[in-house]
Amino acid sequence: MTRRLYLEDAYLRACDATVLRAEGNRVVLDQTVLYAESGGQAADHGVLRWDGGEARAVDSQIEGGGHVGDVSHTLEGGTPPAGARVRVEVDWPRRYGLMRHHTAAHLIAAVVYRDFKAKFTGGQLYPDRARLDVHFDGWDPETPRRVEAAVNAEIAKGHEVRNYDIGREEFERRDLLRTAENLVDPSLERIRLTDIVGLDVQADGGTHVGNVREVGRVLVGKAENKGKGHRRLSYQCVDA
Ligand SMILES: [Zn+2]
Repeated sequence: MTRRLYLEDAYLRACDATVLRAEGNRVVLDQTVLYAESGGQAADHGVLRWDGGEARAVDSQIEGGGHVGDVSHTLEGGTPPAGARVRVEVDWPRRYGLMRHHTAAHLIAAVVYRDFKAKFTGGQLYPDRARLDVHFDGWDPETPRRVEAAVNAEIAKGHEVRNYDIGREEFERRDLLRTAENLVDPSLERIRLTDIVGLDVQADGGTHVGNVREVGRVLVGKAENKGKGHRRLSYQCVDA
């Protein structure tokens, strides 16, 4: 199974790897720094270089569509043969934007749960913007401003962000779900957590900044009314 180095160190920008399989314009490597699309976080872009060739990685997916399995990279510009040694480099500005917006999503989910008892139902992350779908029981036009102020107040506290695994039994005992629906794969025995130390812990398979200060400043845009208490909050992380 492809070793996903980004789960061990989100700041790793490059690695060496061996091609396990090559088929058409897709390759599976023994290890990779390129994030496979999951949990609303888009796949990384990057470059593969090998003896006599170079290609752009334009998509990465976990084979079979689950949370575990080999990572398949889709390439443009050539395909290295099975057995080849390759250098893999992530498009770092794009990934770092995704990391900032992902950590901001957790901050927003944490404050809407704490301050409004609201749960999020989904979202989508991009390098330069994101949205979070939240179900509110109470809503007034000032809510987006209150969420923005609360999130930026938490950023100013400089919480550390850590990732680690716990067993399923402990996960269920600690009642860590912030989603309206249980999105955690029931087949997983170990659950990976993202811990914004002192604020919030959630199950998560994404990449995050190491300290909330790196998120910058969060600007919450207008909220779209999706009916029956559902609101779509758009936001952007900008340099503070
Ligand atoms: Zn997440």
